[in-house]
Amino acid sequence: MPLGEFEVIARFFSRASGRSDVLLGVGDDAALLQPPAGQAVVAATDTLVEGRHFLPGTPPAAIGHQALAVNLSDLAAMGAEPAWALLSLAMPQSDERWLAEFARGLYELADKHGVALVGGDTVSGPLVVTIEVLGFVPPQLALKRSGARPGDLLFVSGSPGEAAAGLDLLRQGIERFDSQDTRVRRFLSAKPRIALGRALRGRATAAMDVSDGLLGDLGKLARSSGVGARVDLERLPISSVLASHYDQETCERYVLQGGDDYELLFTLPPQCASLAAQIEAEGACSVRCIGEVTAGDRVECVRNGSVVAIAGKGYDHFAG
Ligand code: ADP
Ligand code: MG
Repeated sequence: MPLGEFEVIARFFSRASGRSDVLLGVGDDAALLQPPAGQAVVAATDTLVEGRHFLPGTPPAAIGHQALAVNLSDLAAMGAEPAWALLSLAMPQSDERWLAEFARGLYELADKHGVALVGGDTVSGPLVVTIEVLGFVPPQLALKRSGARPGDLLFVSGSPGEAAAGLDLLRQGIERFDSQDTRVRRFLSAKPRIALGRALRGRATAAMDVSDGLLGDLGKLARSSGVGARVDLERLPISSVLASHYDQETCERYVLQGGDDYELLFTLPPQCASLAAQIEAEGACSVRCIGEVTAGDRVECVRNGSVVAIAGKGYDHFAG
């Protein structure tokens, strides 16, 4: 017997929150939430569609994780502290085992970041998962895309490119969803860089998360700031995992154009470059200077001082 809508909510999505700022959570017409005085509420939403954002057959726990992770990554990019989430779930049938695993993946990540699920919607339809996250940041410390200035140094966190390589392995049927290959794990269980976002407060002049490929996303940051940027190809963080599997050109392509990284791309004024080690410690991940913000509006890749053309752009849902 499939579960009814209200049983689904009661069984899987009604856990007590444990946050005192949730005055009323799941169960009423809407949630009642108490933001802390003096902080701005930061809101973001992202939707995952089966076949478009995750492959058919993706384990439900990974879908639950990913749906929240992509949203938390947006809060990280704002320097925000996550607090609450809402979940809109459309699914073809109410499969108990699927729901239990989906909820496990979702709550595991939520618990890690102290996020309370405070409401949502449950409907039948093709599998589509939408999450909205809410968090806080002192308004004057929020990280934006728009503050980069010529001369600022350009940084990226972690090891971009591994997730895209993992997606290719799954797509090509070379690895399975339960593979322990680092690239596959990176794709299926992205770690939102919340601590890094916090460490960048008051330091980074601009920041964004990398979801559609480093180079394409850098173009967005540059446009928002009204600047250009230079990426020094020899400085790209090519992880040992990538280097051990692919030639140099393929590694660079993954790092520059692969999606689904959920790393942070940010700029620091030159006098803050010495803070990189401290930012790494506070942010609990590595960061690498990969270039510089320039005057003008061109985003260029440079190798040994010469501009190198890189084919292809970031991901766009409505591009042909
Ligand atoms: P309404 O009809 O008033 O929109 P619903 O019956 O859709 O209310 O939802 C009942 C309660 O359950 C609400 O508090 C809603 O936020 C919550 N809820 C529904 N679906 C989910 C879900 N997938 N996850 C978390 N909370 C949910
Ligand atoms: Mg409803």
